[in-house]
Amino acid sequence: MTDDKRRCALVTGGGRGIGRAITRCLLHDGWAVTIADVDREAGPKTEAEFAAIGPCLFHQTDVRQEDDVKNAVAAALVRFGRIDGLVNNAGIAKASAAKVTELALADWNRIVGANLTGAFLCAKHAAPHLRAAKGAVVNIASTRALMSEPDTEAYAASKGGLVALTHALAISLGPEVRVNCVSPGWIDTRGEGAVNGHKARELSAADHAQHPAGRVGRPDDIAEAVAYLLGDHAGFITGANLVIDGGMTRKMIYV
Ligand code: NDP
Repeated sequence: MTDDKRRCALVTGGGRGIGRAITRCLLHDGWAVTIADVDREAGPKTEAEFAAIGPCLFHQTDVRQEDDVKNAVAAALVRFGRIDGLVNNAGIAKASAAKVTELALADWNRIVGANLTGAFLCAKHAAPHLRAAKGAVVNIASTRALMSEPDTEAYAASKGGLVALTHALAISLGPEVRVNCVSPGWIDTRGEGAVNGHKARELSAADHAQHPAGRVGRPDDIAEAVAYLLGDHAGFITGANLVIDGGMTRKMIYV
C-alpha cells in the first residue's frame, strides 16, 4: 500500500495488553499506528517488535496531560500526515482501589484522569484531523460501566463516563466522524505483556466454564471488533456500546 493511501490510527496504551493487540491487528489490516503510551519500556519494545508488520511509531504520552496529548497528535501528523482513527484504550485497569469511605481524592482523580479525562483530551485534539479524514473513534470502556463488585467506584464511574462520552462525541462530531465504544469483560492479557494483578495468573477450568461463551476473552476478541468499528463496513454504527464479555452481563446469577 502506498503511504498516501494508508489509514493512520492513534492508539493510546498501545504498548501492552489489549492496546498492543489492537495495534498489531490494525498494522496487519494495513494501517499505520502511533502508540501513545506512558510506559517507557513496553512502548518502544512493541514499536520495535511490530516494525516488521507495518509503520509503527511510539510516542511517550501521559493521556492525563494536555500538552502530552497535543504532542502525540503532532508527532502522528509529522510522521504519517493524517489521523483516520483514534482508539482511547489507555487506562488504569486495576478496578479495586479502596472502600469508598477511604478512597483518597488523589486516587479517584488518578483513575478518572487516565480512563476518562484522557479520552476527552485525545478526542479534543484529534477531532479536527479525524473530521478532515472522515475517520472514527473507538473508546475502550468495560462491563464495569454496567455492573460492579464492591470498592470499585472510581473505575466504574470512569468507565460509565466513557460510555456517555461516546454518545456525546458521536452527536457532536457526526456525520464526519463516527464514535463507538467497546466494553470488554474479562480479557486474559498475559500474552500481551500484562504485568498486573489477577491477570498474570494461570486460568482455571472454572474461569472459562463460568462464561456463557465457554471461555475467558482474548485480546484479539477486542482488537478485531475495534478494527471493524474503525472501518468502512461499520459506516452505519455510531454512538454504540458493544459489550464483548462472553455473555457474562447477560447471565442471571441469583443464588
Ligand atoms: P494494561 O494495564 O495491560 O495496559 C494498559 C496500557 O496503558 C499500559 O501500557 C499502561 O502503561 C498504559 N497507560 C496507563 N495509564 C496511562 C496514561 N495515563 N497515559 C498513557 N498510557 C497509559 O491494561 P489492559 O490491556 O488490561 O486494559 C486496556 C483497557 O481495557 C483499559 O482501559 C482497561 O480499563 C480496559 N479493560 C480491560 C479489561 C481486561 O480484562 N484486561 C476488561 C475491561 C476493560 P503502564 O504499563 O505504565 O501502566
